[in-house]
Amino acid sequence: MPSGRALRVAIVGGGLAGLAAGYDLAEAGHEVELFERSRLLGGRATSFEIDGVEVDNGQHVFLGCCSEFLRFVQRTGMGEHLHLQRRFEALVIDRDGTTSMLRAAPLPAPWHLLGSFLRFGHLGMRSKIEIARALAAASRNGRVSDESFAQWLQREQQGEEAVRVFWRPFFVPALNVSLEEMDAREALFTLRTAFLSEAGAARFGYATVPLAKISEAAARRLARVHRATSVASLELDESTRHVRALTTTSGERHEYDAFVLALTPPQLLRLLGDPARYALPPLDAFTPHPIIDVHLRYAQGHESTVAARERAKLVIPSFAALVDSPVQWVFRKGEAYLCCSMSAADEYLRRTTDELIELAWEEVRAALPALRDATLEHSAVTRNVEATFSAPAALQRPGPRTAFANVAVAGAWTATGWPDTMESAVRSGIAAARSLTKEP
Ligand SMILES: Cc1cc2nc3c(=O)[nH]c(=O)nc-3n(C[C@H](O)[C@H](O)[C@H](O)COP(=O)(O)OP(=O)(O)OC[C@H]3O[C@@H](n4cnc5c(N)ncnc54)[C@H](O)[C@@H]3O)c2cc1C
Repeated sequence: MPSGRALRVAIVGGGLAGLAAGYDLAEAGHEVELFERSRLLGGRATSFEIDGVEVDNGQHVFLGCCSEFLRFVQRTGMGEHLHLQRRFEALVIDRDGTTSMLRAAPLPAPWHLLGSFLRFGHLGMRSKIEIARALAAASRNGRVSDESFAQWLQREQQGEEAVRVFWRPFFVPALNVSLEEMDAREALFTLRTAFLSEAGAARFGYATVPLAKISEAAARRLARVHRATSVASLELDESTRHVRALTTTSGERHEYDAFVLALTPPQLLRLLGDPARYALPPLDAFTPHPIIDVHLRYAQGHESTVAARERAKLVIPSFAALVDSPVQWVFRKGEAYLCCSMSAADEYLRRTTDELIELAWEEVRAALPALRDATLEHSAVTRNVEATFSAPAALQRPGPRTAFANVAVAGAWTATGWPDTMESAVRSGIAAARSLTKEP
């Protein structure tokens, strides 16, 4: 594909993958147009208004090791709107409100977490020894067979408490699948990358502005953004193995030199019809996993004075993991506003909105004594049935290249080495841009 001249490129899909690809191509001097089916940019990492307040499409966090995501946001000029912990720190709360903190010390990995791990009150000494043994096994970097992380944990003789209090609360939200469905290789990649490689790698971060603002900033670098415009089909030239044009659902035809298809597996399948023709694997083999977020706005009850609100702020952490709860993480998003995140939430999808709100409110009130006097004022639920995708162990995730030299695929589900995350999305976009402009 490389020709040295400026190309006219169409990006299909305005999530982070499409925007990262478009941004790099535009920076390299190409003329980039983006087609996004929604009127919002950011794809799964977007935000929208509920009752006049802009909320994220589910709480998104990143870690200090998400280097490409961080670099991308910096380049868009939005870096100052990311919060990243100076040192890793995670509060863990039990159902009865008992708290323990995991906090990094200024030591190199993996010793940075040792002291706080030894003091970690939710685990007995036996579980700590089990976990330390598993961490040592993980750091040996041995080959892992096709097994689930649950099987790996069993093989490493992790007891019930270690799984319940440590592995499940940290790994189910990180990979958005149950331990039983989790690919051991992905879990060990996460463990090594976040906890065993570098002391700053596990630091938590989140955007301090609604997520769509980051994508809006990235899109400003592009020549044109076609919002609320769905691409329906591609026009192939089989003789030259090139795609010539795309057609939108409203029937408009646009010609380009090159195309980046930055869609999820089902969306890509709908567009392509037959992925094998593009030398892509069966796209229906990717499994979607849901995330539910429950947004809770409350009033502090009879204690609703300024001083009481200030006190509540001190006792309501900015975020915390809940043990033994379907709400794995709770985030303080603003004054008297919590977002409860339920990952791998398959079994809760059928619950009504009212049931989910009641469940989340009960869970956070059990964990956070400062809320026991509070009353719920407004609430909303976002259900993302296809929040992330995983590939079956036997399937090789595809790279950006396709059978058509001027068509690249991107998306957090492609072969970036990372699980389906914002980091993976950005990496896939960068790889797609590179595959269109550089020699193989
Ligand atoms: C609730 C929730 C919580 C999450 N939490 C985290 C987290 O904490 N940390 C993290 O790193 N990741 C998290 N993720 C995952 C993260 O959001 C995704 O990995 C990432 O945003 C995927 O980006 P993408 O560009 O690959 O795909 P998408 O964001 O899905 O982008 C695809 C885009 O293509 C558009 N599109 C589809 N069909 C067409 C068409 N025919 N024509 C034009 N456009 C089309 C879609 O509208 C969409 O905008 C979460 C996801 C959800 C839903």
